[in-house]
Amino acid sequence: MRIGNLSGRLNLFTDGGAVDVAEASGGRFSPDPQAIYDVWDDFAGWASTLGQVDATDFQLTDLQAPTPAPAQVFAIGLNYRDHAVESNLAVPDTFPPVFTKFRTALSGPITTVVLPPGGHVDWEVELVVVIGRRAERVAAADAWSHVAGLTAGQDISERITQLAGPAPQFSLGKSFPGFAPLGPWVVTVDEFEDPDDIQLQCAVGEEILQNGRTSDFLFGVPAIIEGLSRVTPLLPGDIIFCGTPAGVGIGRDPQRFLQPGDVLISQVSGIGELRQTFISS
Ligand code: ZN
Repeated sequence: MRIGNLSGRLNLFTDGGAVDVAEASGGRFSPDPQAIYDVWDDFAGWASTLGQVDATDFQLTDLQAPTPAPAQVFAIGLNYRDHAVESNLAVPDTFPPVFTKFRTALSGPITTVVLPPGGHVDWEVELVVVIGRRAERVAAADAWSHVAGLTAGQDISERITQLAGPAPQFSLGKSFPGFAPLGPWVVTVDEFEDPDDIQLQCAVGEEILQNGRTSDFLFGVPAIIEGLSRVTPLLPGDIIFCGTPAGVGIGRDPQRFLQPGDVLISQVSGIGELRQTFISS
């Protein structure tokens, strides 16, 4: 099942188009795309019995962030060995670094992003987990059953802000407006042949700059959920950016950052594509 946010309303997406959930359910479920995760089991049960319904055409540009207002946004750093190496940082052994992307940075899948003046803006394609059941001290073996689905994300990062000062400012440098595009929708875990082995890729225009698989994570989704939920309960609708493979701009020689006019295309297999066009401020 694919669900998402079409012009602010929760929709199911079928091969035929979009189905408005509030209308198709006769008002049983709210049109608020964020609210569905609070009633996830109920909703998944209803959706599984939904027969043939009329779907309508829609424009991809009308899609907004599938989880527009999560209570918590987690992001995992250095979750690939080769990305830690290119970043000149130690490979984490017991648990990776965790930060947030502030919620106002969230956006839909197809957007225009303003480059902060004087910044070094970089790309990080990532798998994003959406929590479907409250997770508190969950063991890795039970972790996937707390996940509603997966979506694609870009952890866009302004490296000067991120690395300024006596200690890094990961959360701030990665939270300019539009720096957390998500989408195009949330795909439920059952749709993946192997949810622990998903391909990620990102390109600027035609040039592919990152290509990785989540099977190369240092800490897979179950280990991330176990480690986070040991400290803080994960709430329905929370999201987790799971970390990026090698190939970011700051790790290149010479370093390379996004320029006005660049189009960043991020793809996650089994989910879809994000497309960001960058402009000067
Ligand atoms: Zn990242």
